[in-house]
Parts: sequence; C-alpha cells; structure tokens
Amino acid sequence: MNGTTHTTPPRPVDVTALLPDLAPLARPAIRLHPRPGSPSPYDGSIGGPLLWPADHPWPYCTMWHESTGDRGWDERPGFPLVPVAQLYARDVPLLRSPGGADLLQVLWCPFEHAPEYKPPTALYWRTAAEVTDILAAPPEPSEVRYACYLPKPCVLAPEQITEYPNFLELSEDLRQRLADWDRWQAAGVAVDDSYAVAPEEFYMDELSHAPGWKVGGWAPWGLTDPIARFCIACGARMSPLLTIPSCEWDDSGLGWIPQEDRAAAEAGESGDMANPTGVQISRGNNLQLYACPEATQWHPHTDLIQ
Ligand SMILES: [Zn+2]
Ligand SMILES: [Zn+2]
Repeated sequence: MNGTTHTTPPRPVDVTALLPDLAPLARPAIRLHPRPGSPSPYDGSIGGPLLWPADHPWPYCTMWHESTGDRGWDERPGFPLVPVAQLYARDVPLLRSPGGADLLQVLWCPFEHAPEYKPPTALYWRTAAEVTDILAAPPEPSEVRYACYLPKPCVLAPEQITEYPNFLELSEDLRQRLADWDRWQAAGVAVDDSYAVAPEEFYMDELSHAPGWKVGGWAPWGLTDPIARFCIACGARMSPLLTIPSCEWDDSGLGWIPQEDRAAAEAGESGDMANPTGVQISRGNNLQLYACPEATQWHPHTDLIQ
C-alpha cells in the first residue's frame, strides 16, 4: 500500500436505526481506491507488475482470438494473460485465509470471449515471502483489441467499510419496509423529500454497498436478478471476492466519493479520478468474482457480469 489516504464519508443515515433487521446482514468490504501511480512488484496494485516467481510459467489464454494482422483476419490461440490486480493481505486483511497465502494475483485475457463475452480471469494465491526471484520480463500481448481490458497502473489505498445487501437481495418484507416513506419519517432520519416516492432508492444509492474496486462486501446486482453462486467442488454458497467495476463512482453514487476527492470532483476537475484504471466491463458494468468460503485458495472461483 503506498497510495494516499481516501476516506469514505460517514453514511448520511444509520440504516440499522431505521431497520434493525439489517444489522445481522452487515458485511465488511475493503475499498481499494486505485489511483494512477508506479507500483512495484512489492506493492498492491491494479494493472501493476506482479510478484511472479521466475521459475513459474506465465499463464496463457488457450482460446481462439480473432486478430487483424498483416494478412487480414486470422485466428490464433496463445494470448499471455495480463495483470489485473495484486493484493497483499497486509493491506487487505479480508484476504487472510487458513491456507497461509498472503498474496492474491488476478490476471485475465484482455478479450471478450464467448459465450458470455467477458475476459476470462485466473487467480493465483501465493506466500509472498517464498517468492525470491521475480520474473523480470513477463510476456505481453502482441496486440490488444480491447484497450479497456488493459488496466492503467494504479497504486492502492485500501479502506474498510461496512456494507448492506443490494435491495434486490433483501427479503420481500425488508424491501416493503425500506420502500415505506412513513417509516423513514417516523424514524426522524434526514432524507431529501425527492426520495419520498421511492425511499428505497436512497438505500440503494447511499446506504447499501459502495461502487468501485473492492474486496468482500455485497455484490452489485441490477443487470439480472440476484443469482446465488455455488462452489462446483463442494457446493458451498460462494461469497463476493473482488468487484472489478467500470468506475469508482457515477451520478447515483456521489455520496461514496472519498472526502479527499470531493472538492476536485465537485469542481469538475476530477479528470480520470472517477475511473483511474480505465477499465470498462462490457459497456459500464461490473465483473464480479466469487470464491468458495470453505476453501478460498483451492476451490475454483467463478465470475459474472453485473
Ligand atoms: Zn483469450
Ligand atoms: Zn468449495
């Protein structure tokens, strides 16, 4: 971790005061707050160099890729994967696991592969102290058709927050109570009257889960209804591991802009601040990675676009 501090503002309302039944659903999440920088292999990063053992083979995508080469269209396999995220447990304690690994490396093929048209991801868990000789010059793709899948190098400033489920993941009873403006009024919470017709939108925008790159917490939904993910190795219900977004915030999530960035954002001077990595997942969506809580390091992960 070597980024400057970024602090999520306190939530405008303690939602558990309004609905105590939400309290047991609170989950920790760690916002990564990527910002442009020059990370080393010893830093946590997005799009940075990995602490990759010199004697470990670099992973390649084995699917076919359409390519516009000198000879016109052709197809070829064998794209080297590119670094997406490197996360040390010392910075992101949610990644500590009984397996002893303290470093998670996420790579993908920068190509939208059928049938779901998303970049296939690969996860590597390591013990950082065991990596002494680092691979000096990892292979790079000879061409990239989707620049939005080559993350710009960013350093991180992880920050732990508390999240609640997406509105769509709540029970019908909880959803009805969140949509009851009289209940909000009775609780005396200061919410703008513009939310009176749909106070659940205030919950969705400001109180449930944060936008942006994060580990753990609750997953974004909306492209589809929530779909439970189950481990193919043991059947356990999988948990959100990493959210790879298309922006750190958008118009519906302005309340999540870190305090240190608000002045620049409000002055319209934030530049690429709202999307420092440059990643765009399938036209503005999130790629959600899930892991098995029973054997995070060993059972296969899964992912989906939301
Ligand atoms: Zn590929
Ligand atoms: Zn499992």
